[in-house]
Amino acid sequence: MSFSAVVVAAGEGLRAGPGAPKAWRLLGGRPILRWSVEALRAAGADEIAVVVAAERVDGLGQALAGLTGWTAVAGGAHRAASVQAGLAALTGGPGQPVLVHDAARPFVSKLHVDRLLTALADADGAIPALPVPDTLKRGQGLVEATVSRDGLWRAQTPQAFRLGTLRDAYTTWPTGEEPTDDAGVVERAGGRVALVAGDPMLMKLTYPEDFAMAELLAGTRRIARTGFGIDAHRFGPGDAVWLAGVRIPHSHGLIGHSDADAGLHALTDALLGAVAEGDIGQHFPPSDPQWKGASSDRFLAHAVDLALARGAQVLNVDLTLICERPKIGPHRDAMRARVAEIMGLPLERVSVKATTTEGMGFTGREEGLMAQAVVTVEAPL
Ligand code: MG
Repeated sequence: MSFSAVVVAAGEGLRAGPGAPKAWRLLGGRPILRWSVEALRAAGADEIAVVVAAERVDGLGQALAGLTGWTAVAGGAHRAASVQAGLAALTGGPGQPVLVHDAARPFVSKLHVDRLLTALADADGAIPALPVPDTLKRGQGLVEATVSRDGLWRAQTPQAFRLGTLRDAYTTWPTGEEPTDDAGVVERAGGRVALVAGDPMLMKLTYPEDFAMAELLAGTRRIARTGFGIDAHRFGPGDAVWLAGVRIPHSHGLIGHSDADAGLHALTDALLGAVAEGDIGQHFPPSDPQWKGASSDRFLAHAVDLALARGAQVLNVDLTLICERPKIGPHRDAMRARVAEIMGLPLERVSVKATTTEGMGFTGREEGLMAQAVVTVEAPL
């Protein structure tokens, strides 16, 4: 979905200690404000107004070198003025979604953006928010009261609105008051703001120790991804079948362009699915003569290489073979060992299971067999 963004980086961030304003400090070798601009562009932002202190407008070109789709905007005396300056610089119409984001939250991702834009369809605003896990006290030196945390949330950014809604809301905000976030402005104007799932990774870098933690996180942000694969092949003339990389003598063979190893094909598709790299037919078209009779371990090994090139590592695989015959049990250990070998995995991360369909369907009639596979990888976010 098309959207615009305002990245606010005009503050000095005095609580972060001495040194450059925090949005300009380096994180993983890149200025912190660059992280947000890169992430929002990658999430599909058409246009980003980057609001910085007036004396830093000239320095923005270097901080964002090589990136496109952004405009430098001189900020105001307070955050609200900076946000309004950013909104004024955007060219979208009143219905265009806009995300307003604090540059000091560098780990924003497409996942966060997509959640907000989805929620915005039914509301005037949408914000990421986290429940409050600690008990809350009110007091000065001594506790005066324990405050119920029921229904309390910690608001994060980016916060999503439609351009017209947010611009209009700011025009009605009382002068002399300073809003602490943009949702507050829309709320005051009577808008409905949806709470969507926040993320600890959207933390705001505020204190010196936050930067040390962010430096650790910058290199290690990884998530689990899962893919599913399914394949079937028809029995035909022959005296053996290939299944999960093992040759099994049988009364029939399997028909296919390659060796028709439905087990390895399902695993290959599951792994390609986990890294969103299409399917086996795209990588090894049956129309291409070089794959005729090919041993399917090549397909799976190629998918592993592709995943590795994306920075993904396979965590575990679970393969289920569905047929009446041949009996899988006697070959299960050999299959696990072969799959582990092809994928470069320890044996305990490879599962091979078998079932029948109790005589029902094409597998029950022994017209063919089927395989289903689930692969989980760990990959960069
Ligand atoms: Mg196949």
